[in-house]
Amino acid sequence: MAERKFGKVLFTEEQISKRAKEIAAQIDKDYEGEEVILLCTLKGSIMWIGDIMKHLTVDTRLDFISASSYGSSTTSSGVVKIKFDPEINMYNANVIVVEDIVDTGNTLKYVLAKLQERGPKSIKVCTMLNKESRRTADFHADYVGFEIDDLFVIGYGLDFDQKYRDLPYISYLEEDDIDKL
Ligand code: 5GP
Repeated sequence: MAERKFGKVLFTEEQISKRAKEIAAQIDKDYEGEEVILLCTLKGSIMWIGDIMKHLTVDTRLDFISASSYGSSTTSSGVVKIKFDPEINMYNANVIVVEDIVDTGNTLKYVLAKLQERGPKSIKVCTMLNKESRRTADFHADYVGFEIDDLFVIGYGLDFDQKYRDLPYISYLEEDDIDKL
């Protein structure tokens, strides 16, 4: 079957899977003997959280949150909206927010402040990709899959105009790639 190619491949499925396994081992070590709530940020983290959770041995519970500061363009609107709130009780729990990508950090900073109101014991962030050079919010990710430059990436859960989330790799788009989509 022909592989669909969009943009320039940055990380293959194998590379992502290997890195997820390493991070899961680190999480297992950090939370040994404890339970963790994995909070999947919709929609971009669906593949990454699957890779992480299947390798974990600590007890986990799973819930979802949807927050957005992006429209259908490639630049942030800066306004954060919570579109879906987790139902799970987080009081006194260890929470790990599992993100697809942290760019300016504005979305997560807002989300973390909201989650703190629920009285968790701890909150950490596990992101597949991190654009540290773009950070404007005072925010630090605890577990990072890969550091990337200031690129617009798609695939492995990440979209462009709600498409390409299904690509089994992460690629980046340049202006000429975007024109061709
Ligand atoms: P932030 O608030 O950190 O600036 O933006 C975070 C959100 O913006 C991510 O969860 C993701 O939805 C979106 N985003 C940031 N950079 C990219 C990118 O390179 N590609 C895609 N597809 N989405 C991105």
